[in-house]
Order: sequence, then C-alpha cells, then structure tokens
Amino acid sequence: MTFKSLELSNALLKAISKKGYDTPSAIQQKSIPLILERKDVLASAQTGSGKTAGFALPILQILNGQPTLRKRTVRALILTPTRELAAQVEDEFKDYSEFTNLRSTVVFGGVGANPQIRALRNGVDVLVATPGRLLDLHQQKALSLSKVDILVLDEADRMLDMGFVRDIKKIIAQLPAKRQNLLFSATFSKEIKKLASEFLHHPVMVEATPENTT
Ligand code: AMP
Repeated sequence: MTFKSLELSNALLKAISKKGYDTPSAIQQKSIPLILERKDVLASAQTGSGKTAGFALPILQILNGQPTLRKRTVRALILTPTRELAAQVEDEFKDYSEFTNLRSTVVFGGVGANPQIRALRNGVDVLVATPGRLLDLHQQKALSLSKVDILVLDEADRMLDMGFVRDIKKIIAQLPAKRQNLLFSATFSKEIKKLASEFLHHPVMVEATPENTT
C-alpha cells in the first residue's frame, strides 16, 4: 500500500515525501480511509505507531476541501494530555500542511496566555490543546468552539489518568452536536469505553496493536 492509494491530495503527498515516509503504517492504513469517509473512529494505537499522521493527514485533507472560517473560530480541535504531546502533535500538523494554506496553533498551560490569545484572534483551522488551558481561554472568549467540525481525543487513557474527564466533558458541551469524533487510546479501560459511548456516534473500531484488547 502507498499513501497515494489512500487518495491523499498532492499537497499532502508532497509533505509526506519530504518527511521521508514510504509506506503508511498499520494504523494509518486503517484510520485514514475511515476518517476521510467522515466516520467516528475509536482507535487502539500506541505512541510510535504513527497514530498522529493517522488522524492529521485525513483531517488536513477534509479541511483543505472546505472554506476557511475566520475570527476566533476553530475547525478541528485536538485534545492531548500534556504540553509536550500537544507541541509534538502541532509540529506534525505544521509539517503535513506545509503545501496548503491551512493554519494550526497550539495552546497549553504553564506559559503566558497572551501569545496564544493573539494566535487565535483570526481563527485557526487546527487547534491542538491541553484541556485546562483551552477552558481558560474559552472562558476569556479568546476563541469560539461553535464551529468545530472534528474533535480528536489523543491518548485518551492518559487524559483520564490525569483527571481531565470533567474538563473534557465541559469542552464537549461547547461543541456543535453534529461533528466527527475520533478517539485514540493505548488501552481500553472501562472508563475509556464509557467516555467513548457517551460522545462517539456509531464508531468504527480500529486496532493496530493486536496485543491490546478493545
Ligand atoms: P506517532 O506514533 O504518531 O508518535 O509517530 C511516531 C513517529 O513515526 C513519528 O516520529 C513520525 O514522524 C513517524 N512516522 C509516522 N508515520 C510514518 C510512516 N508512515 N513511515 C515512517 N515514519 C512515520
């Protein structure tokens, strides 16, 4: 299988080849077509599996085919447990979107909010965020969540372990009811399954690591 056979656009294929990737990883082969079909996806995937490109590439393709929104709006929201992961995920979005006009930014706690508020002012296509700082900025009206079309919970098990479940629910309550939802997790505890059942609509399950049970 090749990235081209996944029907990704030339702009994305160019960025993928610049990264030096030849073949889509197992999780990418499974998740990219489903996400492009606009399905909700529940994916079992660990760090190192290539999961980030597994959601970033199809999200960029979907967003690139639609008009950009303006003024504090966000079209795709990626929630991650830590600032390090948030920064890494946003770096990948930046790399893959190099040959498009899509804009991404990242927000996380522990640093000044003003540069983040400025970066959100004109709206972004992709926002990668940790839950607490996102809620702070939302309360300050630095951004609107009313136009989010795609939500990703990345490393959802770690977010639950870190006690973010209430923040995640508060964030989801601000999103439009009609949207695409993607949940990536290394493990599938009872809590993850409960969270998934609460906000995914008829999800397709994807597993790239057979040793995990879903
Ligand atoms: P992740 O599991 O998303 O944290 O990705 C792990 C690493 O694999 C990252 O450094 C990616 O840049 C890299 N990567 C992602 N997809 C591919 C691929 N198809 N071929 C080679 N490397 C990849």
